[in-house]
Amino acid sequence: MRGIITMGNAKKCCLCGGIYSGYGHNPQPFAEGRCCAICNFEKVIPERVRLFGAIRR
Ligand SMILES: [Zn+2]
Repeated sequence: MRGIITMGNAKKCCLCGGIYSGYGHNPQPFAEGRCCAICNFEKVIPERVRLFGAIRR
C-alpha cells in the first residue's frame, strides 16, 4: 500500500486520524503521540485551559 501517507513528511493524527504535515502538536492530556493543528486548536488547547483553570482556582 503506497499513497498519501508516505508522501513527504505527512503523518497521521492520533486524535482524528487525519493527515497532517510538519511536526504536529502534542495531544496531551488526550493521547500520546502527535496530533494535527485542527485537533490541537479545537480539542487540546481548550482542555488545557480548562485544566489550568481548575488548578489555579
Ligand atoms: Zn486531528
